[in-house]
Amino acid sequence: MSDVSSADDVQLILRAAAFAAERHRNQRRKDEEASPYINHPLALACLLAYECQEHDPTVLAAALLHDTVEDTGTTFEEIAQVFGSQVAAIIREVTDDKSLPKAERKRLQIERAAHASREAKLVKLADKICNLRDLTASPPADWPVERKREYFDWAKKVVDHMRGTHDRLEQLFDAASALRP
Ligand code: NDP
Ligand code: ZN
Repeated sequence: MSDVSSADDVQLILRAAAFAAERHRNQRRKDEEASPYINHPLALACLLAYECQEHDPTVLAAALLHDTVEDTGTTFEEIAQVFGSQVAAIIREVTDDKSLPKAERKRLQIERAAHASREAKLVKLADKICNLRDLTASPPADWPVERKREYFDWAKKVVDHMRGTHDRLEQLFDAASALRP
């Protein structure tokens, strides 16, 4: 696993942040304050780099871009063209097929988690940690406690299929999961 060591790496990460900010520019999170959507991809990258010393530029760029195909008009081809095939391959692994019913998408995440690449697992782990932290600190205003619990339980099922990937991320997941309402 490489470290952020070159100007190219810094450029890749910052270009990914700027691209994600532009694509998510009109979107908001579901919390009461409707926080800017970009806070979420930034939280994943920050968690990986700052809390987990995970400095692989490909993983950090993928973390920043992880919701662009699922939630904006961005295509995998565009990601590959602008950020290269490695980043695009990770985004492909962490993107749900929105043509499927929601329950089926959630089932597939559990089923496929174990078979994902290490890079995709790091992004998935960071995504689940950040979403559980959000559900604790700034949850969607209209979610009853039962819905939050269901989300915590589903996230744990996904993460349990990725155990053994990264000790620190798994510890941070468990810490976030312990705050289940
Ligand atoms: P959603 O998928 O609708 O919402 C969760 C997603 O919202 C997260 O994965 C995250 O995705 C994003 N998000 C945005 N803002 C926040 C925030 N502040 N905190 C946490 N997440 C945020 O919900 P569910 O996962 O619950 O999926 C819907 C399922 O729930 C369906 O299967 C449906 O049948 C069921 N359902 C249950 C209800 C209940 O009361 N129990 C009611 C309605 C539906 P990202 O990382 O992509 O940003
Ligand atoms: Zn996400």
